[in-house]
Amino acid sequence: MEQRNPSLLPWQGDVLQHALQLRNEQLLPHAVLVDTCSDHGIDDLAHTLSMLLLCDNPENRSVCGVCEACRMMSAGTYADYSMVTLEHDSKTKKLNRNIKIEQIRNLIHEVSLTRRYDRLKIAAVYPAESMNKSSANALLKTLEEPAPRVLILLLTHNRGRIPVTLRSRCQTWTIKPPSSSLSLEWLSNQGIDAATAARHLQFAAGDPLLALHLQQQDYASLVEKFKSRLATFLRGGLSASELSKGLLSSEAAITRRLIEMTLNAYCYQASGTDSDANEGAGEDRGRAMRLLDLRQRAQLQLQVEENNLDFQLQLEDVLISLRQILTRRLI
Ligand SMILES: [Zn+2]
Repeated sequence: MEQRNPSLLPWQGDVLQHALQLRNEQLLPHAVLVDTCSDHGIDDLAHTLSMLLLCDNPENRSVCGVCEACRMMSAGTYADYSMVTLEHDSKTKKLNRNIKIEQIRNLIHEVSLTRRYDRLKIAAVYPAESMNKSSANALLKTLEEPAPRVLILLLTHNRGRIPVTLRSRCQTWTIKPPSSSLSLEWLSNQGIDAATAARHLQFAAGDPLLALHLQQQDYASLVEKFKSRLATFLRGGLSASELSKGLLSSEAAITRRLIEMTLNAYCYQASGTDSDANEGAGEDRGRAMRLLDLRQRAQLQLQVEENNLDFQLQLEDVLISLRQILTRRLI
């Protein structure tokens, strides 16, 4: 099996240090909600944090790498560590949108079993907001009557979407987003030149892990290409089908981001022309409202990922609506 080493990100250091301190003072709670500043790298964080709490000789936020727990965690064979995350549907092969109740039931069963080693037993759930109501309710009972020396880690990027009943039974550890200089320094250490790093960090709204992901997908080039093709489409030189087909080679999440960014830019532009003295002010306001509506609708429409054809049809619909709003005279 492939070795998995802990990923130590500089902006996660404070939380790792805090976790280690609670462990050393034997003050670890039985359930922790880890509020992360990115929805990227959550699995790495769950693994690194657990490895640190299991390591026999951790030092200064780092694992020793040689103890039994470290070796087994790296090899993925530590039996008292389990995690629950989104799985792929066996039929469609697409990632499920929810953590299934069966997965949570298995986790509850697992934490009720006797520990194999004389250390903590850790169960991680991420993204925790993907638990539906029944999954969250099932887990609630386990959080109310914890087994001894069991730690349940719920990791989330959307703390507000976790039911209050669940949140109130967890201690919260918050990972604060890094400063832009720290993010740029980290991106530079990943071998990305300064200009590219700055550009992608902007696209990622300051999230360095997302910026790295976008850079790996060559997002900046995608944006340039899309801008030019969109301009041709708006002039009538390209069909909605041709424009949307060109986007299908990217991940759906990347395409969603691109469309969202484009709609945001148009909304911003339209809401900037709000002077009443301006002859076309009423028309501009109407356009701004329609763009805001479209932005909201597009977010829902583009969640459809079950198959490429549906996704393409939704994309086309959004693009045609955009063209109608931008080219129609309202008064
Ligand atoms: Zn160790």
